[in-house]
Amino acid sequence: MTPILSPAAASVRDVLLELCDGAKSEIAHRQTGLHDPCVKRSPYTAWNRWPVLKDQTVLALTDRCARLPDLPRSFIAYGNGRSYSDVCLNDGGFLLDTRRLDKYVSFDRETGRLICEAGVLLSDMLDLIVPHGWFLPVTPGTREITVGGAIANDVHGKNHHGAGSFSAHVLSLGLRRSDGSLRTCSPTRDPGWFAATVGGLGLTGIIIWAEIQLLRITSPMMTVQAHRFRNLEEFWPVNAKASAEWPYTVAWVDCMSAKRERLGRGVLFCGRHANGTGPLAARRGKPMRIGVDPPVSLINYATVRVFNTFYYRTHGSTGIGSSHYVPFFYPLDGVQDWNRLYGPRGFFQYQCVLPFPQAVTAVATMLERVARSGEASFLAVLKTFGDLPPVGMLSFPRPGVTLAVDFPNRGDQTLGLMRSLDDIVLDAGGALYPAKDARMPARLFRAGYSRIEEFSRYVDPKASSGFWRRVST
Ligand SMILES: Cc1cc2nc3c(=O)[nH]c(=O)nc-3n(C[C@H](O)[C@H](O)[C@H](O)COP(=O)(O)OP(=O)(O)OC[C@H]3O[C@@H](n4cnc5c(N)ncnc54)[C@H](O)[C@@H]3O)c2cc1C
Repeated sequence: MTPILSPAAASVRDVLLELCDGAKSEIAHRQTGLHDPCVKRSPYTAWNRWPVLKDQTVLALTDRCARLPDLPRSFIAYGNGRSYSDVCLNDGGFLLDTRRLDKYVSFDRETGRLICEAGVLLSDMLDLIVPHGWFLPVTPGTREITVGGAIANDVHGKNHHGAGSFSAHVLSLGLRRSDGSLRTCSPTRDPGWFAATVGGLGLTGIIIWAEIQLLRITSPMMTVQAHRFRNLEEFWPVNAKASAEWPYTVAWVDCMSAKRERLGRGVLFCGRHANGTGPLAARRGKPMRIGVDPPVSLINYATVRVFNTFYYRTHGSTGIGSSHYVPFFYPLDGVQDWNRLYGPRGFFQYQCVLPFPQAVTAVATMLERVARSGEASFLAVLKTFGDLPPVGMLSFPRPGVTLAVDFPNRGDQTLGLMRSLDDIVLDAGGALYPAKDARMPARLFRAGYSRIEEFSRYVDPKASSGFWRRVST
């Protein structure tokens, strides 16, 4: 591939034009100690700010050609901490912070093939690629995540029903293991290693670089439409029609009413990349900041009830309109640290996938249970996944529907509600999303992920995380 970068693009980041020559660089590493040891106890947390761990040692990885440091205890990669989960935490061990592995290796503007280090943020990549007429093939609801995090959780977006998950667009990747090896794998080269590493929660080693196939666009604008639905019964047919017509769909759901005629009411948002001939510009607005830590959660039953009623009433069905891609894909990124609104105890997200046909009854039962529980969910999202088979052994996206709900952490009461939701997921033959989980029991993980045993053979003997210890014992 010919690396092609304009001078403007090159100024965004350093551009390195070759993948490393392992042997030479590793000698250099041994002599100079290229890892930058931050060696201090750190308040590194996940996005939901729970649990807060005090005994983690952080090392920043800075050189993609260097071997991993020889550590006395286990390690796990830390991307940008946007998981709501201890998948990126490792109490008593090491966090290998990958954010400084942030160089681009090559970007072919003709074919949209991009190779970069794993610590590149999707937000920075968008700044680079959108002006050249390319977009992320799949993007989650925040752009503040790393490429490594996107692969290790095999994240999904609003276009899963057509495009599959992020890893379906990863052409190859470089995996560094604790034994010093650097393995290049792809769907055809060492496919076992590839399938274990994508969606592999950082447990197979450190992803150092990745090659991604981007999506061609001709405009930064989106053509959009919203459909309001009065209850779940209305949602299913509206969603089925929209999924056949639109590449991007997602629904916000009000989970505060248990009354049948209003159960699961909400708004379905649809979009597609607009056609255009004007300038292609990435957009970087200044996000709002919360700036303080409120002593208690500002998200509670009363505030959520008012917000949801207001939101439902002010977001009616609309005709075809247009929106820049940033507010369409990343509405939450407009407030930089909104997670602080949940106060010092943090919050939980509960995200499950449920297969059809069980999903129809299971979603209704779950929403009813949430509404009756007195727990408030500010962000409740429903999205159907397509029929594409999962790419990774532990990939979460699979055919069915996914429901995600946030709850302020109110201790036993919140944990009790989530346990009762677990039973519905188990009965329906569903699974929970590790990226959004801080408490799932081992039996639920085992029930939802049938390839665990096969996956375990690829786990790096030095890799571990709070999540992995919880679900594998
Ligand atoms: C507002 C918001 C909206 C979101 N919306 C969605 C959504 O729509 N869909 C979705 O799927 N997710 C969504 N997420 C979750 C988020 O996309 C994932 O949790 C993502 O994996 C976080 O990436 P990160 O870079 O912050 O990694 P971290 O959270 O730091 O780490 C995530 C996992 O990746 C591993 N990892 C990170 N870097 C590497 C590496 N270089 N090598 C090996 N392993 C690595 C870690 O060990 C860990 O297991 C959302 C999160 C937020 C905050």
